[in-house]
Amino acid sequence: MAHKYVYLFDEGNAGMRNLLGGKGANLAEMTGLGLPVPYGFTITTEACTRYYDDGKMISDEIVHQIYSALATVESAVGKKFGSVENPYLVSVRSGARASMPGMMDTILNLGLNDDTVLAMARLTNNERFAFDSYRRFIQMFSDVVMGVEKAKFDKILDAAKKAHGCEKDTDLTADDLKEIVSAYKALYLAQKGEAFPQNPHVQLIEAVKAVFRSWDNPRAIVYRRMNDIPYSWGTAVNVQSMVFGNMGDDSGTGVAFTRSPSTGEKSLFGEFLMNAQGEDVVAGIRTPSPISVLADTNPEVYAQFVRIADILEKHYRDMQDMEFTIEKGKLYMLQTRNGKRTAAAALQVAVDLVSEGMITRQEAVAMIDPKSLDALLHPTFDAKALKEGKVIATGLPASPGAAAGRIYFDATEAMEAGERGEAVILARKETSPEDIEGMNIAKGILTSFGGMTSHAAVVARQLGTCCISGCKDINIDEASKLITILKSGETLTEGDWLSLDGSTGKVYEGAIKTVPAELSGNFATIMGWADAIRRLKVRTNADSPAQAATAVRFGAEGIGLCRTEHMFFDEDRIPAVREMIVAKNAEERAKALAKILPMQKEDFKGIYKAMGARPVTIRFLDPPLHEFLPHKDEEIADLAKTMGLSFEELKATVDGLKESNPMMGHRGCRLSVTYPEIAEMQTRAVIEAAAEVRAETGLDIIPEIMIPLVGEVKELKYVKDIVLATAKKVFVEKGLKFKFLVGTMIEIPRAALTADEIATEAEFFSFGTNDLTQMTFGFSRDDAGKFLSDYYAKKIFESDPFARVDQIGVGKLMQMAVKLGRETRPDLHLGICGEHGGDPSSVEFCHRIGLDYVSCSPYRVPIARLAAAQAVIKGSKAGK
Ligand code: ADP
Ligand code: MG
Ligand code: MG
Repeated sequence: MAHKYVYLFDEGNAGMRNLLGGKGANLAEMTGLGLPVPYGFTITTEACTRYYDDGKMISDEIVHQIYSALATVESAVGKKFGSVENPYLVSVRSGARASMPGMMDTILNLGLNDDTVLAMARLTNNERFAFDSYRRFIQMFSDVVMGVEKAKFDKILDAAKKAHGCEKDTDLTADDLKEIVSAYKALYLAQKGEAFPQNPHVQLIEAVKAVFRSWDNPRAIVYRRMNDIPYSWGTAVNVQSMVFGNMGDDSGTGVAFTRSPSTGEKSLFGEFLMNAQGEDVVAGIRTPSPISVLADTNPEVYAQFVRIADILEKHYRDMQDMEFTIEKGKLYMLQTRNGKRTAAAALQVAVDLVSEGMITRQEAVAMIDPKSLDALLHPTFDAKALKEGKVIATGLPASPGAAAGRIYFDATEAMEAGERGEAVILARKETSPEDIEGMNIAKGILTSFGGMTSHAAVVARQLGTCCISGCKDINIDEASKLITILKSGETLTEGDWLSLDGSTGKVYEGAIKTVPAELSGNFATIMGWADAIRRLKVRTNADSPAQAATAVRFGAEGIGLCRTEHMFFDEDRIPAVREMIVAKNAEERAKALAKILPMQKEDFKGIYKAMGARPVTIRFLDPPLHEFLPHKDEEIADLAKTMGLSFEELKATVDGLKESNPMMGHRGCRLSVTYPEIAEMQTRAVIEAAAEVRAETGLDIIPEIMIPLVGEVKELKYVKDIVLATAKKVFVEKGLKFKFLVGTMIEIPRAALTADEIATEAEFFSFGTNDLTQMTFGFSRDDAGKFLSDYYAKKIFESDPFARVDQIGVGKLMQMAVKLGRETRPDLHLGICGEHGGDPSSVEFCHRIGLDYVSCSPYRVPIARLAAAQAVIKGSKAGK
């Protein structure tokens, strides 16, 4: 039998998501539940993959299957494509496995042409409706399929509205719309050099191809990379019988959630517009009414909708996001999916569903996106500062959080400002998918149009970025970069400060002080459940007592990486460090190091105290020494003067430290091989600090000393011997003794390859995956930015190997090191301390290969805790 590329809605179900896409699978599921879903069929994701494999062509085999499904649906609904007695119209909708809101475009009213539009007018006795549908179709088809910009059509529409004195599109009459249709067709002809396609079968196949093509558009590529969605998945296409929300005042369209996507509160939350179609609600063209209004204006439909919402939530056991249309008083369901929500809402819903008995704690832990927690860990406004703040406008509280930043009116400029390190508020009339990167970097988003389900609102909630939408108190003029406060006439321009409260919708003048997040309540509940499930320990990378304290608040169980060099840069320390570097002999060097010793010791004491009894891994000096010296002549001259050296002398030192590839130069353990005094001093600082804190607090502190950049067991042994000898000396001096560990980082491929040898000396391994990644790939993290975008564009890489562990290559080295290391030393303690330690997919990998802990930056600790629990859940599912 031929491969099946097309499924009717009554041939699929929710379990077929990979094949039918999320939208298609759920349309099939709702059909199966007997809900009112307009009939149709889904062209599979495999057809999309095949389209690309065939060189961007739809094979005859697939076309044939599409036509045959079409014929089935036509006879089921009793209408026919192109018929002037009973014309059949469809929507063509994309739908990938993972929902990608706004990424791919839907075409409505397909099947209309110069003849069928007249038939529709006659059959419905509603000429206005027929031509309204036709003008929408021409515009969508031209834009999505043929690449004629939407703006060109909007211009015609706006001009017509103006000419006829209409404020809203619903004020246009049938005759106005006919004129618009003619103008649209003329525009199409002028742009494409041929008439608008009249054959519905041609329209359909062209539309299907356009959906397949859109899988590869730049917006989709960016979105996929941000959300770890592989290119290989492809998108499905849904072809569905049209129902019409634009048939008059007894018709409409809307979207609703079973619970609040902002707070998680259990109540129907949504918006609708009467006499409207498709994206009108989310496009912010007219301002929609809250769903509760429907209870008054159309109680029967409302009651039915409430019932369906309840069925769907119980069926999917999760909060649902639904799209519906009312055609002449009859309700149709057009979509359902697990609703996107803010992090706070996600926790609330998960905790509520557990207490409602709908899901288990495990399921609750599994349903929260670890990355989304980030939003909860960030500051809110300081209550006092907020009280004194001046509210200059109020809009819709579309995505909670607090943000203060400088105003930018253009997504690209916002992105540039963000990359310069500025706090950015992106102000737009409304946002569109093109703005995604600017929205991603913004601290807050402000729009003057659109509702709670507008593009800006949906995307901001997903990003965890604070957003105020539909702010009608202001006018945003993007072209002249001006916000006008309508009441007062005051204006703000690019670069001015503004503060947004996404939880109340209030816009404040200037920059308002923010305070750290509250970590109790639902957050603590879910984290507690996650902690009970996970096996991996979670440590943090922290270099100061303050960072350590933050991490402990977030649940860190130790420090996996304390970088000692960060302390060296301190203003009152760097002179001693520089003295050490320019020292001409061991004696001078020892003298300079003696100055650094008490400072390091105090730092370590502070960190031990902040961490209590939790383990602390301290890494010895790692960076090349040139980083501590100036490089410009005038700076060298200045420093020479303060150090009592001649310019030439210091310049010679600086030049002497120059390396053609510092990342692979004189750094890490190599420094201690050349200058054993450094390791001696650092050991002394670590042991003495531990001794003193032990004496002061009675805590059983077991220091962990980590030797960086080891590639050969003999260099590790050389440095370790210095550590052991120095520690012994300190113990004798102080007349005490306690346990401490010496281990190494695995960050040079040779260390992974010879891990069995390394483990004879190392008591623990910590994977330094930043260096390990750069040395395995042979490109540096700092330079990769220059060409990685080409690699993404050409599909050589799908994600940044410095953000997610490359499990195939780097991961193989890690697995090898785990296996070889444990062969030598079965109780070898294993962790990771690269950036990857806070990336959920990398955490899962670390769980799988049997590490003992991950270590990440303080703000990512909760993310890692949750991801570690999810790794266990995933693993047990896979094992079944
Ligand atoms: P998106 O994935 O961007 O939400 P959809 O495919 O869901 O795109 O389509 C957007 C909107 O178009 C839907 O919410 C619905 O209002 C409208 N729509 C889609 N298909 C139909 C249809 N068969 N009849 C009426 N309206 C439809
Ligand atoms: Mg859309
Ligand atoms: Mg939709």
